[in-house]
Amino acid sequence: MTQITDRLTRVHCQIAAAAEAAKRQPHAIRLLAVSKTRQADELRQAWACGQQEFGENYLQEALDKIEALKDLDICWHFIGPIQSNKTRPIAEHFSWVHSVDRFKVAQRLNDQRPGEMPPLNICLQVNISEEASKSGVLPADLPTLAAKVAALENIRLRGLMAIPASSDDPEQQRQPFSQMSDLLQSLQQQLPGQPLDTLSMGMSGDMEAAILEGATIVRIGTALFGPRDYSSHNQS
Ligand SMILES: *Cc1c(COP(=O)(O)O)cnc(C)c1O
Repeated sequence: MTQITDRLTRVHCQIAAAAEAAKRQPHAIRLLAVSKTRQADELRQAWACGQQEFGENYLQEALDKIEALKDLDICWHFIGPIQSNKTRPIAEHFSWVHSVDRFKVAQRLNDQRPGEMPPLNICLQVNISEEASKSGVLPADLPTLAAKVAALENIRLRGLMAIPASSDDPEQQRQPFSQMSDLLQSLQQQLPGQPLDTLSMGMSGDMEAAILEGATIVRIGTALFGPRDYSSHNQS
């Protein structure tokens, strides 16, 4: 418990310091706790320390935790790869999806979003470093995809997400984040009237660089929960 409290405090301080360096308001940056591979109890502890937004990558693991923690008012974000035949439980159980990179998935999430729920918040994942191995829409294909997704009724297109090629150099880290910021600005001009207010970028190793370039959601796992252990983990 103490460890999670301390780590949460430390991450909030890092966010505040980066916000100050960027001349931004600290509360303009939301902390998403990335809880993949973590036990429900660890999330419960973080929740008891005030953390309400959690991000999960693996669907079955996420659904188990959502069930185990249904007594808490958690806002769930899906941030992992999406198989198009597994969209229904995502549409039914999450408030946000950060990892949409093709229209088919957006359309299915739209069609499967229950009518009594608010529209699903979506970020389009951009393959900003244009790596062959990574998911995400290529920057050149973003305007067309965004226009189609923005037209879906049960979807609110909120912005963009990226996982750039990793670098230890803070100056190099900023470059792809700066490109993301430019892409969001172009989309705002292309699609006036859409609530395009979100840049989901920055993880434990590069959150400062992301905040300096305009991140509004940082996705933090290791810095909050410690190193991950995948050994007993079944991916689904
Ligand atoms: C695991 C993961 C994170 C968190 O990474 P850390 O380096 O542990 O902070 C963020 N975003 C996505 C999409 C992830 O899969």
